[in-house]
Amino acid sequence: MLTSTIKLKILVIGESGVGKSSLMLRFTDDKFDPNEQPTIGVDFKVKNLEIDGQRIYLQIWDTAGQERFRTLIPSYYRDATGAILVYDVSKMNSFQKLETWLEELEINTNRNITKMIVGNKIDLQNMRKVDRELGKKFAKQQRALFVETSAANNINVQTAFEELVKKILEDNIFDDQ
Ligand code: GDP
Ligand code: MG
Repeated sequence: MLTSTIKLKILVIGESGVGKSSLMLRFTDDKFDPNEQPTIGVDFKVKNLEIDGQRIYLQIWDTAGQERFRTLIPSYYRDATGAILVYDVSKMNSFQKLETWLEELEINTNRNITKMIVGNKIDLQNMRKVDRELGKKFAKQQRALFVETSAANNINVQTAFEELVKKILEDNIFDDQ
């Protein structure tokens, strides 16, 4: 039996330097570029997935160097069904800023957008500033999924994106597209 493909748009949000572009590159191309350069403007990557027998065409939008403007352009948020909010476990400030990013997200999207909070750079073990439990507790308060990752060492990157997509499929009813 042929099933239709569901198109999903998700956002990757967080402070500059936390590893958003690196997580995307690892997920879509299984690559890590230590010299990842910020691009200016809105940027997205696509990936085809199959989850629980359902074909998904996933569009992943990057803030692409616009983090400093704080208020991202409306077309960035438009029609997004999920968001990955990234912080760097070695930078407490990037974790504290998540609250602001979450407010932005809620103002610009439907309040029920499915959220995943990601603590990246767990390979930097000796530099850790944000305990796993702290991240987990915050995610629970925000009714978001939670995972810690390393784009550099390819830890939990697939999980982060796939668990978010699974939850989006649970949270929404999709018409045939
Ligand atoms: P963005 O500004 O959020 O898109 O962050 P980038 O993906 O450009 O990454 C910023 C810097 O952190 C780059 O030098 C990356 O190589 C580095 N980086 C990204 N992810 C990781 C990781 O998991 N571990 C380590 N050690 N460095 C990382
Ligand atoms: Mg980037």
